[in-house]
Amino acid sequence: VRVGILGAGQLGRMLALAAYPFGFRFRFYDPSPYAPAGQLAEQVAGTYDDTERLLEFADGLDVITYEFENVPVEAATLLSRHVPVYPPPQALEVSQDRITEKGLFGRLGIPVPAYVAVNSREELDYAVDRVGLPAVLKTTRWGYDGKGQAILRTPGDVEAAWSTLGGRALILEGFVGFDRELSLLSVRGRTGETTFYPLVENHHREGILRKTIAPAPDVSSGLQERAQGYASRILEELDYLGVLALELFQKGDELLANEMAPRVHNSGHWSIEGAETSQFENHLRAIAGLPLGSTVLRGQSVMLNLIGSLPPLEEVLSVPGAHLHLYAKEPRPGRKVGHITVRSDDPTDLPQRMEAVTKIIAASGG
Ligand code: AMP
Repeated sequence: VRVGILGAGQLGRMLALAAYPFGFRFRFYDPSPYAPAGQLAEQVAGTYDDTERLLEFADGLDVITYEFENVPVEAATLLSRHVPVYPPPQALEVSQDRITEKGLFGRLGIPVPAYVAVNSREELDYAVDRVGLPAVLKTTRWGYDGKGQAILRTPGDVEAAWSTLGGRALILEGFVGFDRELSLLSVRGRTGETTFYPLVENHHREGILRKTIAPAPDVSSGLQERAQGYASRILEELDYLGVLALELFQKGDELLANEMAPRVHNSGHWSIEGAETSQFENHLRAIAGLPLGSTVLRGQSVMLNLIGSLPPLEEVLSVPGAHLHLYAKEPRPGRKVGHITVRSDDPTDLPQRMEAVTKIIAASGG
């Protein structure tokens, strides 16, 4: 099977690594000729509005997927006239705009935080009245890792938030005083068969994911089922194929949807070692029309992102159960350059292993 991947970052890289063992071949498309997946496979460098380059990329491929949700819908649609593109380009369209996304969640009966669309200074005042404070002002498009967001705590914050974000299409969301953030990774295959990973717990700092605990502790079967029910509605509505990530806030017994990502997700990296079949392998199985793999856990895992600096290889590898993944990226502040999954079959080993790895990361400035 020849697979084309739009975007040659770390997610593309890990996708390729997952399916080389069963003979898949890969080709990447990325504006940068030096992207992390470039070491692994053929790469076509081009912009997303370059029709000729895109068609050159598509030539001879069996299926095309993407590793980030800001691929222009026009590019995905154009390609889909020549080669099947999964997940369906409509999933891109939904996830690229927070208003469209929340509209879909609402129509499907999936609870979301209070929100109001904001397109002018007057509308911001109205939204603050409606939603109340504290609230989060976000750009509706192109935000990632907490960029394009401002928290409004008091009426005095409104002006400053407007001066940084105003002029773009915005959304004001009620600030959710959540107990924790969870995510659900689901996979839907060609025949409509669907499988889920257990809910995982995510910890962010400065808007960037730092840590994922798999499985999330203390998840009742009711909570897992509710989350799966929400994801199933989205998968069916979009006639989805591949991995879908759904980010959720849990507050008491309440579960609110924050956003979805129509792709493999950072909060699923633990599954490389921590599940029978990783999210990457399952995504490729799904889009290639192959049977999905078991999502059963192998013990417990904690995934730690490496942000801005690289820890010494020898030290990390000396910790039992620690698995290091580096993305071939130049370290820069705030940049995800790799991750470590710490895994154990015996839950009593995990805290010690975690502590060792956390110390190594902290000592290297991460
Ligand atoms: P997002 O880009 O929407 O995923 O937001 C990034 C992070 O900001 C989330 O993972 C939360 O930690 C936080 N956040 C976003 N929206 C809200 C909200 N409405 N209430 C509280 N925290 C939020």
